[in-house]
Amino acid sequence: MNVNLSRRSFLKLAGAGAAATSLGAMGFGAAEAAVAARVRPFKLVTTTETRSICTYCSVACGIIMYSNGDFKAGEQAELVHIEGDADHPTNRGTLCPKGAALKDFIKSETRTTVPRYREPGGTAWREVSWDFALDKIARHIKDDRDANFVETNDAGVTVNRWTTAGFLAASGGTNETGWLTWKTTRALGLLPLDNQARV
Ligand code: SF4
Repeated sequence: MNVNLSRRSFLKLAGAGAAATSLGAMGFGAAEAAVAARVRPFKLVTTTETRSICTYCSVACGIIMYSNGDFKAGEQAELVHIEGDADHPTNRGTLCPKGAALKDFIKSETRTTVPRYREPGGTAWREVSWDFALDKIARHIKDDRDANFVETNDAGVTVNRWTTAGFLAASGGTNETGWLTWKTTRALGLLPLDNQARV
């Protein structure tokens, strides 16, 4: 039998009650087809799958998020289940208790889902738009860098550094995100750069 089929694809296919003819076409024998035909339809077969990364720690386990709702028709996604991604090289489908409870974290009533801003000296947070938040961050970056950027040290050597701000990167990011983070922060002259993976 020469079948190029991932473990997840096979389990999903079998769980969906794949027809014996389908399995036969893929090289499976009658016995396997008979077993698959008796399996209950997979409860998640009609959901939309979204691959993501667990947000909790630096292991960055792969997860699959299952949602009801037809996104292409403009319907709102309703998350119904999260499980480890069996095809992800880091965790091979496993999750620790924190990752296994991610659905509760996402659906928590206290979860922050929009940017909030507190005025200098203020005591209350207020919801703001993403445009407001990003403009504010950009303004602070520009003003602080303009005021504190050091082009040369006391010996006249070019250093191009900015040491009055720092950057804490997320450990669950991809290699590409890490590369962009490094390039962006170093291009700005930032020296204090750390990562959540070390915290
Ligand atoms: S599932 Fe557990 S080990 Fe994996 S990234 Fe999440 S918190 Fe870390």
